[in-house]
Amino acid sequence: MRGAILHAPGDVRFEQRDDPKIINPTDAIIRMSATCVCGSDLWDYRGINPVNEPTPIGHEYCGIVEEVGAEVTTIKPGQFVIGSFFASDNTCPHCRAGYQTSCQHREYVGAGGAQAEALRVPLADGTLVATPEVPSDELLPSLLTASDVLGTGWYAAVAANVQPGKAVAVVGDGAVGLLGILSAKQMGAERIIAMSRHEPRQTLAREFGATDIVTERGDDGVARIQDLTNGIGADAVLECVGTSEAMTQALRSTRPGGNVGFVGVPHGVEIPGQELFYSHVGLRGGPAPVRRFLPDLIDLICTREINPGKVFDLTLPLDHVADGYKEMDERRAIKTLLRP
Ligand SMILES: [Zn+2]
Repeated sequence: MRGAILHAPGDVRFEQRDDPKIINPTDAIIRMSATCVCGSDLWDYRGINPVNEPTPIGHEYCGIVEEVGAEVTTIKPGQFVIGSFFASDNTCPHCRAGYQTSCQHREYVGAGGAQAEALRVPLADGTLVATPEVPSDELLPSLLTASDVLGTGWYAAVAANVQPGKAVAVVGDGAVGLLGILSAKQMGAERIIAMSRHEPRQTLAREFGATDIVTERGDDGVARIQDLTNGIGADAVLECVGTSEAMTQALRSTRPGGNVGFVGVPHGVEIPGQELFYSHVGLRGGPAPVRRFLPDLIDLICTREINPGKVFDLTLPLDHVADGYKEMDERRAIKTLLRP
């Protein structure tokens, strides 16, 4: 098969690779229907995370099951399936508590490199969720978002305790932030404030349910959110970036008693204890337990309640994966969909 390999910062190549094989009896092999480039792939692409050797890349996937190991019982060849970037058994105490990304037996699915024609998925019964039937082509972009970016935005909203009628602010206008807006809307938030400076992203934010756009940052951004919430602050804030500035923005935009959900992978974030203590703000985040939400999200997509696939503003054939990275790196694309 062919797949993407990151050789060095800025150097992604689509090349011949060994076909994935069943290694453990709980594995499945899927034939990729669609995959994509994640904002977090750019940390590797830009060399912010070191690249020490040629590495398969990509961790968002959906496709048709081709083969399963001897101990796989619920997942069957021919099914269309979606899974999370972490494989999980879905039976251990952490999985049962809804934190499948902390599964006692978790494995990083992306180690196999999902930007490829096929992929090995460990712990198939626990990790993969099958749709009732093979979906029509036009649903594929939205179903693919459930693998990570939608599940992560959804978790940010859950972690921030978004409730009907409440005021929500979203820090970050990347694909996760935009789908955090969609999630907050779906959960009944009344006011959704998107912090964004980029026109095409502002437009999409409004389509997904943002009621207000704030372009200011830092203290001015905090002041704008105070203005928009009668001097109270937002009830729930979604931090979808991972920088120190974004976390500070999120914590200071939240009202006393409110909550921040943080899903941006932190790079250089330090949280001052005294400030957090006196703020009365609750904080929860981490790698999204996407598996917890997959059945509900698949249902919302298949019944066309939500259309998160709109977040893809560029679609390329999989063998043009290098262009997909370049377009996102240079901020000409929000998110690139790749079709084998
Ligand atoms: Zn588990």
